[in-house]
Amino acid sequence: MKLDARFVTSAAKFDQCPTWDLREIAMVGRSNVGKSSLINALTGMKGLARTSKTPGRTQSLNFFTIADDLALVDLPGYGYAKIPADDAQRIARLMRDYLTRRANLALLVLVIDIRRGPQREELTLAEIVRTRQRQMVIAATKADKLGRSQRAVALRRFAPLRAPVVQCSARDGEGLEVLRRGIVEFAREAPRPPL
Ligand code: GDP
Repeated sequence: MKLDARFVTSAAKFDQCPTWDLREIAMVGRSNVGKSSLINALTGMKGLARTSKTPGRTQSLNFFTIADDLALVDLPGYGYAKIPADDAQRIARLMRDYLTRRANLALLVLVIDIRRGPQREELTLAEIVRTRQRQMVIAATKADKLGRSQRAVALRRFAPLRAPVVQCSARDGEGLEVLRRGIVEFAREAPRPPL
């Protein structure tokens, strides 16, 4: 299966989000979790998520179409230590606006380092999405870094999220096909958003 992603636009503010009737798959995760690598690996297009890392776009929502009826939204990474407080607050507000108000949101892909597990921020995001009765899938990244028994221990920490967890690795390709199929299937179960 192939996801043919094309960059469409960035939104630095919620009201700059595109007006369309596509179902949106939102990817969110703390910085350095491997979100860009995962998006590149899922779409098979090197440098695609780098689009989201170009100056001026790192603090925006970045929209890509991936099928006639689906879009992928790369949300800004959170949890940078070095970001000014004003910027961090603005990003947090943008993410919250998107997750609480965007009618097109069909599915949240919450990207979490398998070694780290969910922290307070991830539990909060999961709660927001659950309250809105949207679907959520967890991408547990960098699975190549753990052996089998370490994984079993690590995965127990994901239970409070109450969502399917896909162990994946952008490095060796593990879980990518499962994730691709899963996100497309889940997203298409969501109601078609109004135009
Ligand atoms: P982002 O900030 O969440 O977009 O993270 P990046 O995709 O830029 O990745 C952050 C770091 O993690 C980089 O050094 C990547 O090479 C590394 N990384 C990303 N995915 C994987 C993975 O699946 N396995 C391993 N071992 N390292 C990874």
